[in-house]
Amino acid sequence: MSFVELPESVVPCRNLVGGEWQLPQGSPLLDVRSPYTGTVIGRVPLTSAAGVSQVVEAARSAADSWAATPLRERTQLLFRFRHLLEQNLARLANLAASEAGKTVAEARAGLLKGIEVCEFALSLQNLDSGAHMEVSRGVTCELRREPLGVVAGITPFNFPAMVPMWMFPIAVTLGNVFIHKPSEKVPLTACVLGELMREAGYPAGVFSIVHGGKEAVDALVAHPDVKALAFVGSSAVARHLYAEGSKRGKRVLALGGAKNHLIVAPDADPELTAQAVVDSFTGCAGQRCMAGSVVLAVGNVESLLADIVRRAGGIEMGPGMGAIIDKGAVERLETAIDQASSEGAKLVLDGRGRRPKGDAWAQGNWLGPSILDHVRPDMEAARRELFGPVLSIIRVPTLSAALAVENASSYGNAASIFTTSGVVAQTVVEGVRAGMVGVNVGVPVPREPFSFGGTGESRFGHGDITGPSGLDFWTQLKKVTRKWSARTDGSWMS
Ligand code: NAD
Repeated sequence: MSFVELPESVVPCRNLVGGEWQLPQGSPLLDVRSPYTGTVIGRVPLTSAAGVSQVVEAARSAADSWAATPLRERTQLLFRFRHLLEQNLARLANLAASEAGKTVAEARAGLLKGIEVCEFALSLQNLDSGAHMEVSRGVTCELRREPLGVVAGITPFNFPAMVPMWMFPIAVTLGNVFIHKPSEKVPLTACVLGELMREAGYPAGVFSIVHGGKEAVDALVAHPDVKALAFVGSSAVARHLYAEGSKRGKRVLALGGAKNHLIVAPDADPELTAQAVVDSFTGCAGQRCMAGSVVLAVGNVESLLADIVRRAGGIEMGPGMGAIIDKGAVERLETAIDQASSEGAKLVLDGRGRRPKGDAWAQGNWLGPSILDHVRPDMEAARRELFGPVLSIIRVPTLSAALAVENASSYGNAASIFTTSGVVAQTVVEGVRAGMVGVNVGVPVPREPFSFGGTGESRFGHGDITGPSGLDFWTQLKKVTRKWSARTDGSWMS
């Protein structure tokens, strides 16, 4: 079992403003507690609108010279940052696990995905060469990609390192100055990323951090100098931020929540499927936007479902599965289980009250894997994102009925099909509305350079967040048309 080492003393978080660590004046401090033990491991300032303005101002003063820095030089700094990430992998994984309640293995995997995005950004030199051609005799057109200026990224609690790294390696390499607003629940990992960006040699103001909650986000959205916003978090906030940012003429991409369906066909490989379903809904205690949270059981798959219940029930609680982010989330999940049961779902695995052995975890936030069978598509448990280790099973007679349930979801992040038939797999690949589809894969996260993003209420805005979509999101195009006279009259020419 992977073990989590919490920080030895309380970590004081600071904003990174113009290359300096600063405590914003007069901002209240919030305790950061580890979901594993309830221990206070950090304190984070909740920056006011005035504090946000200072950060934006410092970033803006770095914007012009950074935009004028050749791409090759910007790329060299990212090489250094990537190297530092590798050197600090264990430390960062531990910190992300401590504050988010993730397993160390999952935190490490998230960092490796962040490194993959860096590697994509390192190839921008090859992708971003623009276009240039003679469009008629003596006339050329050139396409230039230019940075937007000050841009910001607002991120959720569940991936303290990976989600910010979906954004800033690409944004900064393309010549923007980037302000990160981490989740106030997980600010510690963000500070180490800021420390490594400084150590890599980025000029002051190119990468900034502003801590806080709603007030800080609202101030970033309202600030006229912030030209683009990338957001990842719940759908309600994503929708709001998209509307508010767009209204002000900003470029916004806001990724929201999810309700991902795992379709299990009668011809599915039983071993592979049962384990993939269990890993998908229990991994990181179900707090992943790519977690499968509904099984659509097609026809008679009784023994496979029984195996899912058996395997999930055998999972050991503790740092091998992950903890729930806070006590409020545990209560919310327990209430959802109660509600589904009262609406007629059958609770075939009850994780309420399950805790890891040992006093060390007594004050942690826990919920064991829980499975609700015979859930109907109209129930809250089927429709709403629960964001915990709770699986709903919906029985459907046919593959078409499964597709109808999946496509009626307001979300559209991911869907998977488990089958040994190519025709069945292809029917689902073509028939689902979700943005990311798995075939015999429980968590179908695309690897770079394939981009990441859903549809419906899982994404507000256009394009995806990584891969070539990032190139478009973080730049604007300038088209230059040139015409020169055939020759000059100057005698010095020949
Ligand atoms: P959240 O929406 O509560 O918070 C996300 C960010 O928004 C945080 O930085 C937070 O400080 C800020 N915020 C919170 N409430 C706000 C408000 N009212 N106004 C302005 N800003 C506000 O999300 P969370 O609980 O931190 O993260 C979990 C959610 O994120 C889940 O819904 C999950 O599915 C989603 N998520 C989605 C993806 C994806 O790629 N689609 C990836 C990871 C997480």
